[in-house]
Parts: sequence; structure tokens; C-alpha cells
Amino acid sequence: MAERFDEEALRAVGVRIDAEHPEGIIFDPHQPQLRVTDLSAVRGDGIFETMLAEQGHVRKFSAHLERLQRSATITDIGIPPQDAWRAAVELGLDEFRNRGGLPDEVAVRITASRGVDGEPASDDPAFSGTYWALLTPVSEKVRTSRGRPISVTLLDRGYDSGASERAPWLLLGAKTLSYAVNMAALRWAAKHGHDDVIFTSSDGKVLEGPVSSILLGHRSSDGQVHLRTPSPDAGILPGTTQATIFRAAEQAGWRTSLGPVTTEDLHDAQFLWLTGSVKLVSPIGRIDDHSVAVDEELTTALLSFLNEAG
Ligand code: PLP
Repeated sequence: MAERFDEEALRAVGVRIDAEHPEGIIFDPHQPQLRVTDLSAVRGDGIFETMLAEQGHVRKFSAHLERLQRSATITDIGIPPQDAWRAAVELGLDEFRNRGGLPDEVAVRITASRGVDGEPASDDPAFSGTYWALLTPVSEKVRTSRGRPISVTLLDRGYDSGASERAPWLLLGAKTLSYAVNMAALRWAAKHGHDDVIFTSSDGKVLEGPVSSILLGHRSSDGQVHLRTPSPDAGILPGTTQATIFRAAEQAGWRTSLGPVTTEDLHDAQFLWLTGSVKLVSPIGRIDDHSVAVDEELTTALLSFLNEAG
């Protein structure tokens, strides 16, 4: 099979988890691994998490494992226990060390697929699907983009904000593998000269980015800072980065609150950021035709909340 990999991808490490190897077994991610009948490949029927390991420490590992469990419950996919995921990721990080060097920053993506239709991999529901971790060095491009102002476009996601409650089969709020729409939205943004997207509901509520949460910030004349984000009730993914920032912000004496957030609120907001586990924090300098103020000091404070929380 003719294959081409870029340099970062070539350094990736894969770890599979199954009933025989509950603590993981290394595989070569550059060789075929998945059966073509696996439902992750056939239907995008699986769930995942992406985390950041810095100097071998996985940031907010527990929060990601809890969210994976939440996605597993919503989608009814059996997943291995938390200890298995932790051991598998540790094995992957050790593999980098054994190969002669752990990169400063590694993106750790853990995936659970429903597996092959009608052929459970194990009688134990916790191991009946297909499970793996993929560890890839974080690219220089991503590292240097942190904290840099971006331009976003507002795109209608096509649902109203009540859809998640009314239609739970849409799996809104679960982190499923079905990201084709999210990626299409990002391509749309790039074609129209933007770096990223903020999804809105058909009834004018602000939701999230395709791979990030949105934060609104306000600093009053007495210096008091207020951060706001849309509530997960709107059928969005509860962001672990946003939650970490909010906890640290509250400790620093800032005010925080959860939505609903309307598109008017967005246009009236003093400062805006997109947040995510690997890209961390990106201040928004432009929404479509409107420019937005960027406050370097606040952006630096948000980044240090994350660095300090570890
Ligand atoms: N919303 C969506 C749809 C995402 O895919 C992500 C992350 O990939 C986020 C929000 C941000 O989540 P976190 O901060 O936990 O990375």
C-alpha cells in the first residue's frame, strides 16, 4: 500500500486495549489495524476524547475519562474501566521514552468504537467494542497559534436549542466520532477567509465551535472580570478547558456564569475566546464583518489558569 506520512505523524504511537490486554498493547499506527466492518469506519459509530500530555502528564485526565463515560452512556457503547485507559496511555508515553525521547507535548486521542456489528470482541460488555489510544506530538503550528487572535464566522447548525432535549437520538452533547459536519464547517470557514467557526442554533442561540467552547468576557471599570459560556443544556459538549478556566477564575475572584447566550450577546461581548484541550485559548479578533477587541492580559491570564491547573 503506497502511503505518505508527515514527520509528526510518523512519530505517532498507537495502543490498543482489548480483553486480553486490558492495560494496552502497542501497535504501529502506520499499518492497517481496523477491520473494514468496524462500525467506527462504517458508520462513525464511536466516541472519543482528545487530551494534552505535557512533559508526560495528561492534563485533566479524570475530566476526560468522565466525559468519555458520559458519551458512552448516551450512545450505549461499553467501554473499558478508567484504569485501563490510564495504563494504556502511560504505555504509549513510555513507548516514546523507549524510542529515545518523549516530546514536550503529546496529543492523546482515546477512541471507543462500538466494534464489529454482531461480533462482539468479548462477552464482557466493557471490552465488546474496539478501543485504542493514539499519541501524536503536538505540531509547532498548533503550539505557536495559542493565544493568537483569530477570525471566526457564525454558522447555523440547523437545530433549535431545544433539540437535544426533544430528540435525544441526535446524540447532541456526546463526543461521537461523527465529526464530518464539524470538519465541513471548518472547511467552509477557511474558504471564506476565517480561522474557525461558532455554531448557532436556528433560534439564535450561541452554541460552540466545531472543536472548541466559546467564552465571553467582560471587564468592568472597577477591574472586575465576568466570564460567561453557553450552558450545556443547549446540546453542546461540556468543555473541560472551559470548566478548568472557570474554576480557576472563581478562585481568582472573577465572576462566572452559564448561558443561554444569544447572537446579540455575542456581538455585544467585550472579549471572546475559543477554548479547547490542545489549542488551549484563542482570542477572537473578528466575527464575520465585526472586529472584536482583544485583551492580551486577560488571554495570558486564561492561559496561565490552564498551565497552573496542569
Ligand atoms: N466542543 C466541541 C464540539 C469539541 O469537539 C471540543 C473539543 O474537541 C470542545 C467543545 C472543547 O472541549 P475540551 O475543552 O474539553 O477540549
